Amino acid sequence: MSCTDLLGQPQSTDVLVVGGGIVGVCTALYLRRMGVEVTLVEKDRLASGSSHGNAGLLVPSHSVPLAEPAAIRQGLRWMFNPASPFYIKPRLDRELASWLWRFWRAATPQRVHQVIPVLRDLHLSSRSLYADLTEEGLDFGYAKRGRVLLCETEQGFADACQEAEEVGEAGLLTERLDPAACREHLGGLDCQVVGGVYYPDDGHLEPAQCVAAIGKTARDEGATIIEGAEVLDWRFDGQRISDVWTTRGQFKPREVVIATGSWTPALTAALGLAVPIQPAKGYSVTIEAPTDTPQVPFMLTEARVGVTPLPGPDGTRRVRFAGTLELAGMDFSINQRRVDALTASVPRYLPSWKPQDFIVEEVWRGLRPCTPDGLPLLGRPQRWQNLVLAAGHAMIGISLGAVTGQKAAQLVTGATTEPHDLRLLDPDRFG
Ligand SMILES: Cc1cc2nc3c(=O)[nH]c(=O)nc-3n(C[C@H](O)[C@H](O)[C@H](O)COP(=O)(O)OP(=O)(O)OC[C@H]3O[C@@H](n4cnc5c(N)ncnc54)[C@H](O)[C@@H]3O)c2cc1C
Repeated sequence: MSCTDLLGQPQSTDVLVVGGGIVGVCTALYLRRMGVEVTLVEKDRLASGSSHGNAGLLVPSHSVPLAEPAAIRQGLRWMFNPASPFYIKPRLDRELASWLWRFWRAATPQRVHQVIPVLRDLHLSSRSLYADLTEEGLDFGYAKRGRVLLCETEQGFADACQEAEEVGEAGLLTERLDPAACREHLGGLDCQVVGGVYYPDDGHLEPAQCVAAIGKTARDEGATIIEGAEVLDWRFDGQRISDVWTTRGQFKPREVVIATGSWTPALTAALGLAVPIQPAKGYSVTIEAPTDTPQVPFMLTEARVGVTPLPGPDGTRRVRFAGTLELAGMDFSINQRRVDALTASVPRYLPSWKPQDFIVEEVWRGLRPCTPDGLPLLGRPQRWQNLVLAAGHAMIGISLGAVTGQKAAQLVTGATTEPHDLRLLDPDRFG
């Protein structure tokens, strides 16, 4: 479909999806597969937001939400240290203060208990959907080889084992590892650890390749994808969004899906919706894979650094180090001190991997869209009859991307979202 110019007639489309990250492209694909006419608008290029350079981990093991009691304890120790894995840029900001207050309120054992099965089921369904897409022939480096947590301290190991117990109680597989078993899982790579945990249910993929492959498939199956089209404004007819103004013309959709990650509060303010998403900056450093790179992704637990083996172009291999969480607003700057802290932690665990030997291919930063209770917003806000929100996936948006797209498509079409219970994800839950 060609675009209108600003003076032309509005384009009518059945469903307009806003945002071309993992959530947006998956929504477009599953809508097409339900026979719906769909147009996706992306202000930049597909995967130009958080979905590009992240760690690509599919993590049923992350069914414990971000807002949990241990995060409060650890966060208080780290939060004002600019070189720590978690940092809050000190500033007077009412939204941030209210977000932190809600985070604190949500981080209770009872709530964590309630959330774990919901997230677990979504993660597992999403992983199956990626496996199905791979079976169909989409190539984005999907593999289910599990994930290893490496712990360098007794305290880190004890905390990891405690979390593994909670995850195990939720029915997911976990294995406690001694140092020899850690080495074995890493294909013999020497590691200096006191122990570790193995999560066999986890998987990984190359996130940018994944968005590109799903976007291309959606297009091949009839979706219209328009890059360089930024949504600027809305027009209304009663409780319906009637028109959407973009930099590439005006649209008259029957339904709208907003899948704009950290940019969501800026877009939804004009819809009278207060969406408490804080951007949490993270970094990744991608290098040419050393020859002894393990097949399995792993985590440097105390340093909070994820290490993912990924396919590069033309059969090459890469390794991506990803981590840090910095609440600093919509700030895209790269703080070299934090990037250095990320790679400096590697030889503490892997003595033979030295940052000075790394052949760096990309240093990247992205903003995780974080809600205060660690759960995405997925559903229809009551205020609008033709809007679905699908945002706020924090550090699990790749993992939940496929199932979120499928659920968003079901919400749009009125199909059942069973067997998943989306009540805890209600976009109106913050009032
Ligand atoms: C360092 C790091 C590591 C991570 N590791 C993992 C991991 O291992 N596993 C995992 O599951 N998750 C991980 N994440 C989180 C994951 O990257 C995000 O949760 C996920 O990418 C969010 O996807 P999204 O589609 O909601 O948002 P995004 O990918 O940010 O996409 C939103 C899109 O909306 C577009 N947009 C915004 N405003 C407009 C507008 N007005 N008009 C049109 N388009 C607009 C943006 O340009 C953007 O492309 C990580 C994140 C970081 C930063």
